[in-house]
Amino acid sequence: MTRKERFAAVVGWFEQNVPIAETELHYGNPYELLVAVILSAQCTDRRVNIVTPPLYERFPAPADLASATFDEVYPYVKSVSYPNSKAAHLIAMAQKLLADFGGEVPSDIDALMTLPGVGRKTANVIASVVYDKPVIAVDTHVFRVSHRLGLSNGKTPLDVERDLERHIPEHLRARSHHWLILHGRYTCTARNPKCAGCGLAPWCTHFALEQAGKAASDRPRQAVKRDASAAEGTR
Ligand code: SF4
Repeated sequence: MTRKERFAAVVGWFEQNVPIAETELHYGNPYELLVAVILSAQCTDRRVNIVTPPLYERFPAPADLASATFDEVYPYVKSVSYPNSKAAHLIAMAQKLLADFGGEVPSDIDALMTLPGVGRKTANVIASVVYDKPVIAVDTHVFRVSHRLGLSNGKTPLDVERDLERHIPEHLRARSHHWLILHGRYTCTARNPKCAGCGLAPWCTHFALEQAGKAASDRPRQAVKRDASAAEGTR
């Protein structure tokens, strides 16, 4: 199977079986999504969704966050991972948003990446979810699932992003990001992926290798069994 065929099969399966795929982060506007995505680095969406309602209420606009002190923000984010740096990033992000972008979240990826706490993945999430740009953010789930399925052998998230964007049509890229994240979160988990119930198994290189490995390790046992039966037959 060529990589092109594999992409077509995988994307086709997702289109058929997961017609709706959206971010699980709760937000009401681009600024809130930006805050949530910054907080979600190395943290679960569930935890972020617990933290954000009071945070949004206390700091409803970039100006509120920009004028806050670290000690005012920290208590709201202390239960997420890396709360010290995230509290500092949120304040600095809001200050830059006001200083350089009139308080509006920019749509350009390079502009987004000038904001503190915003790397390429976060910028791509904002660009695709808020502005419907045909880009694919590669996080740990997208990276792992793309490798297992055989969609990419890229060594870095950027390599994987390029492979995915090369093969996935523009109108499906935003959804593909969510497809791969949700698949990685609930089915193709880092430990013990649920291959037995996975609809993508027929095209998955990881699954094929696992099966081949099992077959190889079963062979000697089968041979031993055959020998044993043969021996029994001679008694
Ligand atoms: S078959 Fe297994 S490894 Fe392959 S995508 Fe599905 S869950 Fe992941």
